[in-house]
Amino acid sequence: MTIQKNPGKLSVGIMGGTFDPIHMAHLVTAEEVRIQFDLDRVVFVPSGNPPHKEARNVSDQEHRYLMTELATISNPYFSVSRVEIDRPDEELTYTIDTIRYFHRHFEGKANIYFITGADAILEILTWKDYRELLSICSFIAVTRPGYCLSKLEETIGAACPEALCNIDILEIPAVAISSTLIRSRVAEGKPIKYLAPEAVTQYIIKHGLYR
Ligand code: ATP
Ligand code: MG
Repeated sequence: MTIQKNPGKLSVGIMGGTFDPIHMAHLVTAEEVRIQFDLDRVVFVPSGNPPHKEARNVSDQEHRYLMTELATISNPYFSVSRVEIDRPDEELTYTIDTIRYFHRHFEGKANIYFITGADAILEILTWKDYRELLSICSFIAVTRPGYCLSKLEETIGAACPEALCNIDILEIPAVAISSTLIRSRVAEGKPIKYLAPEAVTQYIIKHGLYR
């Protein structure tokens, strides 16, 4: 799909994630989507208290926020939002609330594109109010090594066929990096050079994260 640019409206990509830590694949994804879809900006939204990450101990949100700031600082089209991490601690954060927030924030003058990797979009039927979510913003699902987007049609098509026209698939240069990989390499004392931006690597060392 080519985005029909509306002169009165911004095109805003929202890149949600736990970012524990943010890594090169997140940045490659956001920049490739920005260029291919001619977005005016991409806002990174570190997750607050996401329901699907309850099982493991996620790093303190201020660490994740600061690493995301450090990683995105050199790209004028990138910014970081505190909308999810500033929610009260005990409240679970849901993407639907975040998208509603951005619609209010831009006073309805922005087309919102939620950017996800293949693994995340394949789970969308488990997200809160997914039908409404798929109707109030468009999704850009990027390829990710190890996940097959050809299952998307059968997964979402069966439950919510009308949503399929609101999801675009973009093939990005394959980068088989995950935050899980980085955390386990740090825990094993292995180097993580070039897997994350240098400033993020230094931040991890300085604060003794993932040991
Ligand atoms: P974890 O291993 O802790 O789950 P992660 O690497 O999957 O971390 P997240 O913060 O969970 O990173 O992901 C944020 C978003 O970035 C998700 O939509 C995810 O699918 C996407 N993403 C992460 N890594 C990649 C990758 N290597 N290629 C494409 N998309 C990715
Ligand atoms: Mg993940």
